[in-house]
Amino acid sequence: MAYNVTLIPGDGIGPEVTEATRRVLEATGIAFSWDVVHAGAGVVDRLGTPLPENVLESIRKNRVALKGPVTTPVGSGFRSVNVALRKELDLYACLRPCKIYPGAPTQFKDVDIVVVRENTEDVYSGIEFEKGTDQAARLIELVSKMGHGVREDSGFSLKVISETGSRRIIKFAFDYARAYQRRKVTAVHKANIMKFSDGLFLAIAREVAGEYPDIEFEDRIVDNMAMQLVRRPQQFDVIVAPNLYGDILSDLCAGLIGGLGLAPGANLGDDIAVFEPTHGSAPGYKGQNKVNPMAMMLSGVMMLRHLDETKNADRLEKAIAEVIAEGKNVTYDMKPPGHQVVGTSQVADAVIEKLEK
Ligand code: NAD
Repeated sequence: MAYNVTLIPGDGIGPEVTEATRRVLEATGIAFSWDVVHAGAGVVDRLGTPLPENVLESIRKNRVALKGPVTTPVGSGFRSVNVALRKELDLYACLRPCKIYPGAPTQFKDVDIVVVRENTEDVYSGIEFEKGTDQAARLIELVSKMGHGVREDSGFSLKVISETGSRRIIKFAFDYARAYQRRKVTAVHKANIMKFSDGLFLAIAREVAGEYPDIEFEDRIVDNMAMQLVRRPQQFDVIVAPNLYGDILSDLCAGLIGGLGLAPGANLGDDIAVFEPTHGSAPGYKGQNKVNPMAMMLSGVMMLRHLDETKNADRLEKAIAEVIAEGKNVTYDMKPPGHQVVGTSQVADAVIEKLEK
């Protein structure tokens, strides 16, 4: 029987990396019934919204989706489809494994980190008040009554961290560590400064850690964490962080393992899973058959594991790893300038050839 999976090609380079991934997934021999639906900047003009209701309906029905990156305008325009999707479907855990495959373009060795990012709260709460609006003025009045001076020409993005949201993501990180035989969880925060938001996150992390005596626990202040990740990433195993730090640190970790072209991800709720790479829609590369599809393919590997297709997940991951190790059929981001590289679809051909061997 075929797996029903929602497929969202996305914007920019999304359709190319999604198509390459669809091809390698089908080459494993597993049958998929793809429900192709469209979201993002590409549909706004036609449908009046970047996140049409049929996209949410399809994911709710199928419970599993493979999603290409979508564009979010910077500073103005419509709000992020990704943030909306994660909130609407309560996909509270963003899982971003960052592992070095031999042959990947990096100076580091033996990095195998999993970033667990809280996906629904923090400064991504969406509670924002624009400078000069009535709402901003009312907020300024309220906080000034509480004894805090705020400049009148301020804009606001509220940082919201709850005990409920913190507990479930931290538990998720520890459960993940246990399930995948990981030895340590590191909680990241800035609790020295933001005592009531990050401080709450840290207090809950310490409490939850007590329920998992078999897993080592430590915490780091985010700035120090960034420095230590670059100096000695091998000391880290599972990292759990509120939304913004998780977002930034997972890109940093992608840099450690060879770049965004190699960094997969998943957005997970209690019974819905949306798999997508860490990278964005890189609009400058759109339609050039140039970018690396491996981050999206490795997100597909994560999807296979989620579907309990462990053997095929291992086969596909091995095939991708072999293409990386061989270094013959890789994209521009995997080689120094001047070396011979191939395009997105040729990487898929090479992975399929390995799978068929
Ligand atoms: P980006 O990840 O799209 O690209 C940054 C740079 O990384 C690119 O210029 C390119 O050099 C490199 N890169 C990214 N993907 C690559 C790949 N597969 N292979 C090789 N190189 C790759 O980040 P950005 O330019 O900051 O954002 C572009 C758009 O993507 C924005 O609208 C942003 O909101 C959106 N975005 C979407 C998602 C998502 O849909 N989950 C995530 C991040 C950013």
